[in-house]
Amino acid sequence: MRIFKGIAASGGLAKGKALVHVRSSLVAEKQHIMAGDVATELEKFHKAIELARKNLEEHQLPEISAEPAEILETHLMMLSDPDYLLQIEQYITTNLVCAQWAVEYVTNHMIELLEKSLDEVLRDRAVDFKDVSLHLLNALSGKGARRLDSLTEDVILVSDSLMPSELFAMDKTHIKGIALDGGGRASHVAILVRAFNIPSVLALGTASQKVHDGDEIIVDGNYGEVFIRPDLVVSQNLDERFARWQQHEHELHQMADLPTEMTDGHVVLLKSNIQTGSEVESAKSIGASGIGLFRSEFLFMDAHGGSSEEQQFQAYKHVVEAMSPLPVTIRTIDVGGDKVVSGMGIDEKNPILGWRAVRFCLSRKDIFTIQLRALLRASVYGKLQIMFPMISGVEELSAVLHLFDHVKEECKIEHIPFDPDIKVGTMIEVPSAALCADILAKKVDFFSIGTNDLIQYTIAVDRGNEKIAYLYQPLHPGVLRSIKMIVEKAHKGGIPVSLCGEMASDPLYSVLLAGMGLDELSMGFQSLLQVRKILRDVSFKDAKQLADNVMEMDSYLTITTYIREWMHDRFDHFTTI
Ligand code: PEP
Ligand code: MG
Repeated sequence: MRIFKGIAASGGLAKGKALVHVRSSLVAEKQHIMAGDVATELEKFHKAIELARKNLEEHQLPEISAEPAEILETHLMMLSDPDYLLQIEQYITTNLVCAQWAVEYVTNHMIELLEKSLDEVLRDRAVDFKDVSLHLLNALSGKGARRLDSLTEDVILVSDSLMPSELFAMDKTHIKGIALDGGGRASHVAILVRAFNIPSVLALGTASQKVHDGDEIIVDGNYGEVFIRPDLVVSQNLDERFARWQQHEHELHQMADLPTEMTDGHVVLLKSNIQTGSEVESAKSIGASGIGLFRSEFLFMDAHGGSSEEQQFQAYKHVVEAMSPLPVTIRTIDVGGDKVVSGMGIDEKNPILGWRAVRFCLSRKDIFTIQLRALLRASVYGKLQIMFPMISGVEELSAVLHLFDHVKEECKIEHIPFDPDIKVGTMIEVPSAALCADILAKKVDFFSIGTNDLIQYTIAVDRGNEKIAYLYQPLHPGVLRSIKMIVEKAHKGGIPVSLCGEMASDPLYSVLLAGMGLDELSMGFQSLLQVRKILRDVSFKDAKQLADNVMEMDSYLTITTYIREWMHDRFDHFTTI
């Protein structure tokens, strides 16, 4: 038996057989070949086409529903597309490079052309070309295809790293647990595994190299432990520990219909963060006071879910209607960073500081306008609010608001009904926006603090990099001062302020955040009831005192120890610290 310790990213216990997916083997490297080796390289390429085709055909099983079957059919046709294949062959021959690189280069070039097309069907083809190229790269790597989008049996997925888009495309009905070498608690993969409720542990170092396909494995997402080939006694102990956790979760459900009112009557609204429309039911079942953050970019990642105006409108309408009369805050697309959507031409050298969120939207007004129209159309079905991500200063905010006004005018001319009082807000997640919060507060109806990014940019620490995860400290005095300043400036400007980063979901911080004056906390559904239980047991007066004391302290170590002790003294059920 081997035990790995990592970051507890998503609660629950999963037992099963490992499926190892080493992503780094799919990254094409540019290798030059000799002129005399061209024939061999071409032969290798032709064999890879056959293998990729065979792998795809094997997945045309009768039980596959109509839509995936159509997708497979399209991919098979692309694998026979003479133009695509010829371009790859010519690239190998003329540039004397390996087949992997030629596949990568030609595919990216085709994607770029397709995404510029005015025809939506052609633009959607870009996603298919990316998928087909992955089948080819898989076959060229000699490993055979690893189809994670249509699994036939339950598995525990073990991988070196995952992109949010990959996780999105996987067949999650059969993925019972996830163990990843990399990742951080606030990474988007971590956010997604929690949203999909898959027990997961991240930042395991080299676990994927120590596991083989079919190995028995247990993922304990509550304690951040992974057991490879566990012995019977350990397995039984874990079952007992899990049963206790389930009992605790069951008890928490009694909180579902209660308000989050502190002992002296102060109310903090607890809302849900969602990534897909299907999460709305979970949000309702735990009595969330609304949706505080709908990460709309994931609609674009759901490659075959579609992102036309009509498809977006339907998705927003569904959420807004389902939550009505409670408010739903939909954030406009925050692509870029680690959320690369195939076909959008995002290929950045420094993605975290690069072309993402509103920066992308302001230069792709075609995509942005479609989204704003879809949002306005959905606004008549309930209480919809719009929020903009990654605003760095007033020019950017003004540009976004100007475009929004323009889209509203267009809708009026076209007699498209929308809520004339629709509220707009901005995320505060870039340090310059935090520093200019008083200026920005004059222009919007609310703020929402995105601590995942605010911490990343304030401390200059990549939120997804496990090697420097020790630096990613929500209780860093620099971060806390920033939050305090944003709250004060928002309130002075007469607008409410929410916090929707992962910090809101950690019960350790609940009292502190309430004491700092946050009006709302928005989080994944896994932790909302625990946060509610804690806040209902404390007075706002004590929470404010805690926050005042913390603001006097000079290091995250001192603050962390102080808060742990404070919470431990008051909550004997407080097991997560
Ligand atoms: C944040 O940055 O805190 C946030 C909520 O947005 P995202 O995690 O999607 O970047
Ligand atoms: Mg963010």
